[in-house]
Amino acid sequence: MKVTEHIANAKGKTLFSIEILPPLKGENIKLLFDNIDPLMEFNPPFVDVTYHREEYVYKKKENGLLEKRSTRKRPGTVGICAAIQNRYKVDTVPHIICGGFNREETENALIDLHFLGIDNVLALQGDAIKTEPRFIPEPDGHRYASELVEQIVNMNKGKFIDEELENAAPTHFCIGVAGYPEKHFFAPNLKTDLKYLKHKVDLGAEYIVTQMFFDNKKYFEFVERCREAGINVPIIPGIKPITTKAQTNILPNIFHIDLPEELTDEVEKCKDNQAVRQVGVEWTVKQSRELIKYGVPTLHFYSMGKADPIYKIAKQLF
Ligand SMILES: Cc1cc2nc3c(=O)[nH]c(=O)nc-3n(C[C@H](O)[C@H](O)[C@H](O)COP(=O)(O)OP(=O)(O)OC[C@H]3O[C@@H](n4cnc5c(N)ncnc54)[C@H](O)[C@@H]3O)c2cc1C
Repeated sequence: MKVTEHIANAKGKTLFSIEILPPLKGENIKLLFDNIDPLMEFNPPFVDVTYHREEYVYKKKENGLLEKRSTRKRPGTVGICAAIQNRYKVDTVPHIICGGFNREETENALIDLHFLGIDNVLALQGDAIKTEPRFIPEPDGHRYASELVEQIVNMNKGKFIDEELENAAPTHFCIGVAGYPEKHFFAPNLKTDLKYLKHKVDLGAEYIVTQMFFDNKKYFEFVERCREAGINVPIIPGIKPITTKAQTNILPNIFHIDLPEELTDEVEKCKDNQAVRQVGVEWTVKQSRELIKYGVPTLHFYSMGKADPIYKIAKQLF
């Protein structure tokens, strides 16, 4: 079922959903199941699975020269989606990225998802390769998520790259896209960022999932600005509980977001990360209660491989 259908069926009640990462290469899938099994108690109607592109590592050879190797540390997005649908009978939302794919590879990946009975995708530009200063598209690949949205919308109409394909069976993906309450780092300002967000929606994206934020005011203002700009699809807030002291520096650095002073003050007082996890749980419960009251369609939790705090939070909310 489509994410938008789940939201419509909930009739205004806030749903619980999660985003998970595929396991590191070589890890047993059982670890992932052990991690998320308890969360099924809260009936997530859909689970997002991130996509991680290749990165380059340098290995020193016997002659002292460095060898550049391409590796994917977390492959398996499609396999994990199929395994989750099979095990829990819940819908999955694989993340589809522009980076690393040309248009035909994208088309073939989407055909695989369609054959697996996956009805939803989150269409993204994708992170730049870690060792590259900025995002570089593949030759004949997409630069912006909007181009990816356009390709998926075309496939939903039975329009494939090979225009000579006659009576091609259409796919029927519900397309989600990313939005940034604190603006995407590449955009000069929020107004410009919203112009491109609206473009994705105008092309056919049916809902938005936000980057994580720790101050609800940012989300409320973002929703208001979106509505003023004519963006009228559901805007699902992405939430992440803080779990370590180091994250007070890492999260702003990676995700280009601010942490409220009140939160960092509380974290600073913590003697160890167990205490930080408790602060994170309390902060997220407070944030979530306010978001539920506001009427958000879904609370979407970024698990980042750690389901335990999310279980504690969901137990108090759902
Ligand atoms: C909910 C969520 C899930 C994510 N999951 C993943 C994942 O699984 N894997 C992964 O690699 N990354 C993931 N990301 C990170 C994401 O790929 C990066 O933030 C990326 O830099 C931007 O992706 P986007 O789809 O928002 O890009 P876009 O919508 O393409 O926008 C990228 C930037 O370009 C600007 N822009 C857009 N169109 C134009 C245009 N025509 N001309 C000029 N500027 C333009 C936008 O304003 C923005 O600043 C996720 C992010 C979020 C919020």
